[in-house]
Amino acid sequence: MKEITCLSGVDLLMDYLEGILPADVHAALEGHVAGCPRCAAFVVSYREAPRILREATVAALPADLEVSLKAFLRARTPAFKSP
Ligand SMILES: [Zn+2]
Repeated sequence: MKEITCLSGVDLLMDYLEGILPADVHAALEGHVAGCPRCAAFVVSYREAPRILREATVAALPADLEVSLKAFLRARTPAFKSP
């Protein structure tokens, strides 16, 4: 079985998270992540990233920009309804 270290793991982790690794490599990496807090934290942070990014984007959107954005969308999209 291919030995997984943190160094080779970082390259493999992206493929692992995409689910495109061969089954044996995937299993080896899974075994490494299970026993490696550093890699486990990386996997968690990667999986959480879209949610964190979305929340950060929502929080960073100023109210006046949101209003003008909705007005813009209404003007461009007749079917768009503000909630
Ligand atoms: Zn590791």
